[in-house]
Amino acid sequence: MQKIVIVGGGAGGLELASQLGRKLGKKKKAEIILVDQNPSHIWKPLLHEVATGSLDTSTDGVVYHAHAARHGYRFILGRFEQLDAQRKVIRLAPTFDDRNQPLLPERELNYDMLVLGIGSVSNDFGTPGVQDHCYFLDSHAQAERFHQSLLSQFVRIDQHSGGVLKIAIVGAGATGVELSAELHHVTDLLKRYGMPNMTPQQLKVTLIEAGPRILPALPVRISDSAWRELSRMGVEVRENTRISRATDTGFVTAEDQLIEADLMIWAAGVKAPDYVKELGVFELNRANQILAKPTLQSSVDEDIYVLGDCCGFQQEDGSWVPPRAQSAHQMASQIQANIIRRLKGQAQQPFSYKDHGSLVSLSRFSTVGSLMGNLTSKSMFVEGHLARLMYISLYRMHQIAIHGWGKAALIYVAETINKVVRPKMKLH
Ligand SMILES: Cc1cc2nc3c(=O)[nH]c(=O)nc-3n(C[C@H](O)[C@H](O)[C@H](O)COP(=O)(O)OP(=O)(O)OC[C@H]3O[C@@H](n4cnc5c(N)ncnc54)[C@H](O)[C@@H]3O)c2cc1C
Repeated sequence: MQKIVIVGGGAGGLELASQLGRKLGKKKKAEIILVDQNPSHIWKPLLHEVATGSLDTSTDGVVYHAHAARHGYRFILGRFEQLDAQRKVIRLAPTFDDRNQPLLPERELNYDMLVLGIGSVSNDFGTPGVQDHCYFLDSHAQAERFHQSLLSQFVRIDQHSGGVLKIAIVGAGATGVELSAELHHVTDLLKRYGMPNMTPQQLKVTLIEAGPRILPALPVRISDSAWRELSRMGVEVRENTRISRATDTGFVTAEDQLIEADLMIWAAGVKAPDYVKELGVFELNRANQILAKPTLQSSVDEDIYVLGDCCGFQQEDGSWVPPRAQSAHQMASQIQANIIRRLKGQAQQPFSYKDHGSLVSLSRFSTVGSLMGNLTSKSMFVEGHLARLMYISLYRMHQIAIHGWGKAALIYVAETINKVVRPKMKLH
């Protein structure tokens, strides 16, 4: 029986493991194994809500071991660190428990087909001080760490009426813009939860962008609309502002001006993790992404497929498929089809990325974005309820892919009830 190992249970990898598990694993047509460095999954586009406490991960998190048992694949906890493509073996680093006691030793795992879906990390472009002073939203643990610091700052400000909490965010892509709006939303909620002195007026968010406009990857009309909404909330948007270093009191611009901040977040672009270079196996692009053939097999080894943020897929017009959840979702579907075709001895099919548009959630204030037409490549500007519905549907599609329709519907009902019975903000 063929052994298919998927490394990375994220937006793309978990969908692939669930679908292959149901189609092949349960029927004993192939052995499906998912490896992740964490015991549970949270869909990455929700991390800004984890960071602000507006999402409680107890409903939205997926525990891999339990999920695997139901969906026909096996889960192995471990951090992938080495690859021997000649022997078709990956090596996992030893795992330690929360008291730093050894839990699992270093292990080797062999495969017939390997899929890498290891995601991306924030790119600090070598800017001094960023690693020491900034928070990142690359993982659930990092988002939780920011959440704890945010709560401590709220408590501090609440003690001194008139105090101001200064938060500076570098990078006005979707993450930076969505986080700015979410911060205003949760600050607004605090008076309901016993912090009367902490009002939106006590919060000063500065959103810093090196380029000439926020949301640079999206059409100008969307940037303009998001800019107006953020300004209305009181977010200070600083475009054309390049950061030269981060210090313990704030960011320093290229013009040597200090933007003071109590909390600093770096959300300025992503790259595939640096250890991909050290594997010494793949051809990479400038963002460390592993170059893939049109069939999503790596350019150097047809037994290794690549998906999502770590996949360098160049389209016919020369552009790279963007690092987005919808790309990871589409690639997972294509790899699933290609693996099944391969097991049947059929030819591999090329991947073609379809841009369905992009939506940016400004918390409860608004949602703006563009939807791509089916017949033309023109984008249509959307705002308000329709945009909100489309934004939420991307997550619902992920839930359907990993749980199936029935359980996804039950989770929706549970979330709706939780909205009524649970606090709107996580205060611990
Ligand atoms: C705050 C935020 C908001 C976003 N909003 C949107 C949005 O609105 N729309 C959109 O399309 N995209 C959005 N994105 C981008 C989107 O989240 C990513 O493009 C998508 O998650 C990529 O999926 P992936 O499967 O490639 O990687 P991920 O979902 O990042 O999953 C990677 C997995 O690999 C695991 N892993 C990594 N290294 C190892 C290792 N060495 N060993 C074992 N496991 C490993 C990780 O634990 C993780 O589970 C957002 C991202 C952020 C941070």
